[in-house]
Amino acid sequence: NPPLLEVHGLKKHFAAGSTTVKAVDDVSFSIAEGQTLGLVGESGCGKSTTGRSVLRLIEPTEGSVRFMGQEITLLPAGPLRAMRRHMQMVFQDPYASLNPRMSIGEVLEEPLIVHGLHDRATRKRKVAEALDMVGLNPAYAARHPHEFSGGQRQRVGIARAIITRPRLVVADEAVSALDVSIQAQILNLLRELQQELGLTYLFVSHDLAVIRHVSDTIGVMYLGRMVELGAREDIYARPSHPYTQALLSAIPREHPREQRQRIVLQGSIPNPAAPPAGCHFHPRCPSCMEVCQREAPTPIKLSPTHTVACHLYR
Ligand code: SF4
Ligand code: MG
Repeated sequence: NPPLLEVHGLKKHFAAGSTTVKAVDDVSFSIAEGQTLGLVGESGCGKSTTGRSVLRLIEPTEGSVRFMGQEITLLPAGPLRAMRRHMQMVFQDPYASLNPRMSIGEVLEEPLIVHGLHDRATRKRKVAEALDMVGLNPAYAARHPHEFSGGQRQRVGIARAIITRPRLVVADEAVSALDVSIQAQILNLLRELQQELGLTYLFVSHDLAVIRHVSDTIGVMYLGRMVELGAREDIYARPSHPYTQALLSAIPREHPREQRQRIVLQGSIPNPAAPPAGCHFHPRCPSCMEVCQREAPTPIKLSPTHTVACHLYR
C-alpha cells in the first residue's frame, strides 16, 4: 500500500526560560494505508508531541507532514478544520476528554455537526451505528459519561473518533489507564475497526507489550529522536539500538527460552532541556564509544524496512 501519512524532518521546539527544549527533533516516518505504526519510548521522549504535531493539535516548528496528498503543515485554519474529519484522535483518559454534561448521544453527534455531515435524523442513526460498532448498546446514547466504566468510556472515545469515518486515527496511550483485561478488549476492538473501516493508526504508547500487539511498524524514540524504526519483526527479532535492546529485555517473553538477558540501564532519562551531547543516549549506553559523546548518530539503513541511529553500525 502507498503511504497514507508521510512525516519528514518533523521538529517541535519549545522555549523554556533561556533554553530550547527539542521535544521532537528531526523525526521521519511513513505509514501505509491500513497499517499501524507504534511509537514507543519512555515518558518525555516526544512520542505524544509527535502524534499531536501530525494532527496540528500543536504547531510543529519545522518539517513536512503529508496526508491524503496534502501538506498538513501549510493548510490554513479553514481547510485544516475540514481535514480533521479524516484524522482523528483517541486520548488516554476517556473521562477527561468527554464533556460530563453532555449525553453520550450529544458527544458523538458533535463531530458530525462540526463537519456539517448529514441531516439530524441521519446523525441520530450514525450515533446508534457508532455505538453498535464499538460494542455498546445504542440505547446508551441517552446516558452520561459518569454512568460508564473506564473501558466503556474509552469505547465512547473511540466511537467519537470513528464517527466521521476518518482515514487516520492517532491513539495516544489509549489503553494505558485501563486494567489489563480491559486493555485486551479495547485493543481487539481497535483491530476489528481497523479491518472493517480500513483505518490507519499512529499508536503511541510507553508499553512495549501493547506496541507489539498492535503494530506493523515500530518507531522507538529517545529524547526527541527516532533511534530505531523497523517492521515489527525487525524490532523484536533483531533489535539493533542499545536502547531498544534494553527496553525489550525488560518485557517477559511467552517462552522462557526466548527470554533475553535483562539489560538494566544506568541512570534515568536526562532532563530534555539539557540533553547529553552527541548521542543523547550515551551516558546510559552499555556500548558507548568515544565518538558517541561528540557526534549525534544519523539514521543508517540495515535493510529496506529497518533503520537505526547508532554509531555501532557505521
Ligand atoms: Fe550507544 Fe553510541 Fe550507539 Fe549511542 S551511538 S546508542 S552511545 S553505541
Ligand atoms: Mg505522552
